[in-house]
Amino acid sequence: MTGELEVLYFDDFENHRGEQRYFVHDKRQNKRYQPEFQGEPPAGATTGSFVRVRGKGNDQQIFMAANGTNSYETLAAASTMVSGDQKTIVLVADFNDKAVSCPVADIEDLMFTDSDFQSIDDLYRETSLDKIQFSGTVVGPFSIDYSSTDACDITAWADAIEAQAQASSINLGEYNRKVYVLPPNKCGSYGLSTIGGNPSRSWIFRCDVPDVFAHELGHGLGMGHAGNTIDDYDDISDVMGYSDHGLRQINGPHQEQMGWRDPQQIVEINTNGIYDIAPLELDSSVASAPQLLKIRKPDTAEWYYLSFRQAIGFDQSLSNNYLSGLSIHQHAGNGSTSKTVWKNTLLDGENFADSVNSLSITQLAHDENSVTIQVSLPNICTRNQPTVSLTPQSQTDLAGSTLSYDVNITNNDSANCSDSSWSVATQIPSDWPEVLSSNEITIAPGSNTSINWQVSSADSAVDNNYALTVDLVDAGTITHDKTMAANYTVTTPGDTQPPSAPTGLTATAQRKKIIVSWQSSTDNIAVAGYKLFRNDIQVATTASISYSDASLTSGETYAYYAVAFDVANNLSLSSKISSVTFGKGGGGGSSKGGGKKR
Ligand SMILES: [Zn+2]
Repeated sequence: MTGELEVLYFDDFENHRGEQRYFVHDKRQNKRYQPEFQGEPPAGATTGSFVRVRGKGNDQQIFMAANGTNSYETLAAASTMVSGDQKTIVLVADFNDKAVSCPVADIEDLMFTDSDFQSIDDLYRETSLDKIQFSGTVVGPFSIDYSSTDACDITAWADAIEAQAQASSINLGEYNRKVYVLPPNKCGSYGLSTIGGNPSRSWIFRCDVPDVFAHELGHGLGMGHAGNTIDDYDDISDVMGYSDHGLRQINGPHQEQMGWRDPQQIVEINTNGIYDIAPLELDSSVASAPQLLKIRKPDTAEWYYLSFRQAIGFDQSLSNNYLSGLSIHQHAGNGSTSKTVWKNTLLDGENFADSVNSLSITQLAHDENSVTIQVSLPNICTRNQPTVSLTPQSQTDLAGSTLSYDVNITNNDSANCSDSSWSVATQIPSDWPEVLSSNEITIAPGSNTSINWQVSSADSAVDNNYALTVDLVDAGTITHDKTMAANYTVTTPGDTQPPSAPTGLTATAQRKKIIVSWQSSTDNIAVAGYKLFRNDIQVATTASISYSDASLTSGETYAYYAVAFDVANNLSLSSKISSVTFGKGGGGGSSKGGGKKR
């Protein structure tokens, strides 16, 4: 069968577990099936995905073969929405034997309008660095004809509440997030929610516990739980951990999953060393260091996430256990909804070791601005592009002279890599002699070396610019290959004859720039290039015969001319002037005559 997937988390905080349930809704037959996965459910299954499931079934359930046997296919991924305004409707409803204990006005305050800026909207604005906000309304209380002692039937309750809301002319289609608030009942949980979904749907059964709202809406945004190795919820540094601990922000791996943190603030560590980490709560523009470090955990193909939490903003309600220094989490890091696993929060001098991966992290010091840690890494090699420079970039001498260039190479591989070797090949004009101090170099990770390259021009070389090229090739990895170029200019002393003036210069206004082009000049030896002037001020030196000028003001008229120069730097007379008005309907250029004498 095919249908829309709904993934639900039931939050049973009292029993320390979150139960995940899957439904596939076949809208044509209006039937809901519960797929029973053998083993782990598929990663990345989120509410709203259009899926096909195959297996044996009865009226309500489909029993599927294990993963990887195409018993489950995602036909269309869910649309995700984790930025911008989350239009939210909160629907409050009473059972016929029990009413919701919180006034609607209090829930409105908690969700959107708290005068002390302690709302769920304020929390998510803060922890997302203003990437998302929640706006909307709270309606009800409605009365539904079910009892708190009836069997847990969240779908039937939601349908009954929505029928009442529609009868009150509420347009539910306007909202991306639906929240049903009901009294405690037989479901035995504080709340539950779809994972993702647009709209996502969340049920709250404890209106008196503010962080249940943040937690269930976090599921709606696509986050799984924040737990530790043995417990689904026991990472209180994140609203996706246990509720009833006050509103607080989310942890490092959840920040990466949601994409709210500036990507430059998330840094993968490949080399042993000492690192600073700035508090996760800070805006990246004021953070003095990266805010999230990642280290591979090869044995499980997961990642360690290193972050530093401080009592800033909503994190003033964070337990002191998380404020002493480095927080270490483990997570798949692939956007999956699997729980983030809190490993430890260190004290100064304390060490975290993973002997399987020979990884060790020691906290050296911390203050309010950063934590400083020493990282000793597992035996991972990451090959990176080397840094190569060819100096000097440009030199000038007589024909037959020998000029010296240096090729500097730094091996940027991680510390655990073996040494790398490059073969060095050069390209220069034929019949020019050269001497390379080495054709083959071997460099250790993090080290650099230099080779010297002596290039002589032929005695017969005519005055001109000649390109010299070095190719570095690593037979082991193309990541390492690099080509660099430099210039050798041959000049004849005593050349005093300037090139001819450039002709046919035109200036043409386009929408965002002016294009100036002209005809090549000629010279007794060789033209080396052109200087372009705008309103008598030089704006470019180029070897080309056109130039695109973009630093312009609309409505201004600009006058251009070009001057050629040769390899002995003799200057030609200037070209004719071409004037053009920029940004007035994008019209063409107009020339006005008159040779300008230099
Ligand atoms: Zn949950």
